Amino acid sequence: MTLRIDLHAHSNISDGLLTPVALVEHAALHNIKVLALTDHDDTSGLAIAEIEAARLGVQLIKGVEISVTWKKRTLHIVGLKIDPEYPPLKSGLDAIRAGRHIRAIGIAASLDKAGIKGSLEGAYEYAQQGIISRTHFARFLVNSGVSKDNKSVFKNYLVKGKPGYFEHQWASLEDAVSWIVGSGGVAVIAHPGRYDLGRTNMLLLLEEFRALGGGAIEVVTGSHTVGQYIEFAKYAHLFGLKASQGSDYHGKGISFMEMGRLPALPSQCVPVWQGWLETEFIQNQSLANQSFSSIS
Ligand code: AMP
Ligand code: MN
Ligand code: MN
Ligand code: MN
Repeated sequence: MTLRIDLHAHSNISDGLLTPVALVEHAALHNIKVLALTDHDDTSGLAIAEIEAARLGVQLIKGVEISVTWKKRTLHIVGLKIDPEYPPLKSGLDAIRAGRHIRAIGIAASLDKAGIKGSLEGAYEYAQQGIISRTHFARFLVNSGVSKDNKSVFKNYLVKGKPGYFEHQWASLEDAVSWIVGSGGVAVIAHPGRYDLGRTNMLLLLEEFRALGGGAIEVVTGSHTVGQYIEFAKYAHLFGLKASQGSDYHGKGISFMEMGRLPALPSQCVPVWQGWLETEFIQNQSLANQSFSSIS
């Protein structure tokens, strides 16, 4: 039943392969009823996605995935049910996108030094709709024959200590959470299992995030193992945070997971969508199931 909710997905406004319209169609095809479009640092796909979603009977949740630097590490904070017109959010995302361009120049210069020429123009060829990201550099490196696939790019290039790495300062955690919450949305720590923080820093992060007004963490995501579903359900419970689920779909060949394949949240979780009108059909359905099982 909960397979029908996917609260983390990308279009080609950021580093996904599908247009916002095609992404909504893809979600509908995979039986997703509630979809959040959460492009990195850019909300310009939401309006057109919303129109297509209404046409197909999909509930679209307005989202974003904000890049943050916390203790010298990059974290991603998803905003759900945001107002993309909220001025501080808008200007904050504008500044991050300007920073992405500067960083892309740095990435290209580093690749250039390693003998890989033309990557800035090459990456921008795949980034015509919105932001420029490492995924676009990865596509350039694969399609020009430097690497065999996306996975091997992120092993040999663009990461710390490898050609194409360029240190960058993203938004602060405090700003990202305040833009999201100030716009009326819920702030969610994306794929916490991917940060390799260790327990002490994870506890610090969750404490700080909650104190800033953060509302939830992703428990079931395409980039967590089954063991991490349990681990982060426990952290959510410990901190009184709600739990989110999302595939982090980017498109064929560059995704951690296809849409519609996520298992349900562990039973002790409080879903981030609790009380949302968009998910009422699920609550009704589970009530109907309950009364059915109490009759039988
Ligand atoms: P950026 O925000 O420009 O640093 O790009 C980050 C994006 O690169 C992430 O959102 C993923 O889509 C992709 N990415 C990062 N690490 C990996 C990885 N190990 N494997 C595949 N994709 C990755
Ligand atoms: Mn991405
Ligand atoms: Mn992410
Ligand atoms: Mn993502």
